[in-house]
Amino acid sequence: MTRAYNFNAGPAALPLEVLQRAQEELVDYNGIGMSIMEISHRSREYERVNEETQQLFRELLEIPEGYKVLFLQGGASMQFAMVPMNLLRPGTTAAYVDTGSWAKKALAEAKLLGEVQVVASSKDDQYTTIPDLSSLELSEQTAYLHITSNETIGGIQYKSFPDTGDVPLIADMSSDILSRPLDVSRFGLIYAGAQKNLGPSGVTVVIIREDLIQPAEHLPTMLRYSTHADNNSLYNTPPVYSIYMMNLVLQWIKENGGLAAMEKRNEEKAKLIYDVIDGSGGFYRGVAKPEYRSPMNITFRMANEELEKRFVEESQAAGFVGLKGHRSVGGLRASTYNAVPYESCQALQQFMLDFQKRHG
Ligand code: PMP
Repeated sequence: MTRAYNFNAGPAALPLEVLQRAQEELVDYNGIGMSIMEISHRSREYERVNEETQQLFRELLEIPEGYKVLFLQGGASMQFAMVPMNLLRPGTTAAYVDTGSWAKKALAEAKLLGEVQVVASSKDDQYTTIPDLSSLELSEQTAYLHITSNETIGGIQYKSFPDTGDVPLIADMSSDILSRPLDVSRFGLIYAGAQKNLGPSGVTVVIIREDLIQPAEHLPTMLRYSTHADNNSLYNTPPVYSIYMMNLVLQWIKENGGLAAMEKRNEEKAKLIYDVIDGSGGFYRGVAKPEYRSPMNITFRMANEELEKRFVEESQAAGFVGLKGHRSVGGLRASTYNAVPYESCQALQQFMLDFQKRHG
């Protein structure tokens, strides 16, 4: 069996052990003579998957009392709308930090629904930095502050989080959730599409502080957090298989030492590649300013687009997948989420060194 060196940005690599276990359990889950996809979401078996997966989130993230873990659909993009729908009331303003592509998408959606203020932006740095939020003043009318903990396209990451006092801090953690330890108590709400660090696409995780779950009866039922919280994420048919896969990924994280171990390994993996960039004498140029570099999405450029195209082609021929930068910004990107093996990063390091020898 040959597994590709998978650096896809999302959907992205899954741990081989998880895929193999899913394969083993596919046609006969736990001796029931069927797959988990073929039974009711109200069955004992699925209820156990639902409960256990929530529990694994609580354990890995050390989620304090007073928070709910919800499994929703519609991707992180749906949360761009659900957050303001549920939390941005008339007379209040939503504060957003603009750090690039995904932050902009989130705030554009909120603008459709209410009053939005961009309170900080790294636009003047071409989105290569995270703005300093240490002296941020938020007015009393601020419904929440929204940040994007890791910009998947730009390759920048928050290394610390702002203190927002009584204003709920809300974070889109789609591309770095469970990649490092986190103090959940600092946040009012965290959301993440699963298809990078958690599992396959189809499920979005929302971790929400209970006081932010309002009845919101003016909203369609499916768009209220209260609906899903009141029904233990079983109001309607959930994406059973995605949640089952996520369960296996969380077990894999636990077995592999939890979030501290993930962080250490992710730093080591990313260092392999950033070291090549920094030691290349300008042949490779990192996009992000070093102090904001993401260990999840490593973005870099080369002297010209011709050379970048060459890099993509030769890397593909050598068994690497997903190294082309996002179509909106070009360049190159290696996504090195939790499940990307150290060996894949070592292979990429060697490929980059060899490529420079051939073309430098
Ligand atoms: N936020 C971030 C940071 C992302 O990386 C992505 C997906 N690449 C999204 C939001 C959108 O996620 P989805 O496709 O699940 O709607």
